[in-house]
Amino acid sequence: MSLTPHISAQLNRLYAQKTPQSLASLKKQYAGCMQCPLATQGRTQVVFGVGPEHAQIFFIGEAPGKDEDEQGMPFIGRSGRLLRTLLTEIDCDPSSVYISNATKCRPPLNRPPTYEERATCSSRILLQEIAALKPRAICTLGATATTLFLDTKTPISQLRGQITQTEYFAIMATYHPSYLLRNRQAIELVKSDIVQLKSFLRHKA
Ligand code: URA
Repeated sequence: MSLTPHISAQLNRLYAQKTPQSLASLKKQYAGCMQCPLATQGRTQVVFGVGPEHAQIFFIGEAPGKDEDEQGMPFIGRSGRLLRTLLTEIDCDPSSVYISNATKCRPPLNRPPTYEERATCSSRILLQEIAALKPRAICTLGATATTLFLDTKTPISQLRGQITQTEYFAIMATYHPSYLLRNRQAIELVKSDIVQLKSFLRHKA
């Protein structure tokens, strides 16, 4: 499995920069972003990622929902609470990882963001967040984030748990927490995927 040519080309450019744009400056620049249709479809605010700048693992979800849009933080609704709980259960402190989204503005009626919205948003913000943090691993949550990064049509049920080492980070897809709210039996699979990713990083250190 490999990164899409579009993502790869942008990462090459961003990682070649001597001084990547800081997270603080990104937030300032894009606080009122008007670059895609989501800007005028009812979003309250642009919701940036959250977590420490030294985070080794960078999680990427889909887009802010109602709670996130109101409070300006990713993954704080029901699926976010589930994500934080399962991380805690595998001894992965949720405050030690970075949590972000493929798209930073809430789509109307919580529809999935289109490919164009994801591509526009990620090239402005998400990939710059990655270049600023230089995480050791990226974990894409669900198909929306996964297909932005990986050149594949394989469903998450078959992709999950497979770690691909790219030039800049290891990447692994797993189920989105909102899928887990509807399919509780998959919670253990996601836990084991993240444990596996952590173990991969430990052995590579
Ligand atoms: N909340 C988020 O921030 N992202 C999602 O993908 C789902 C809920």
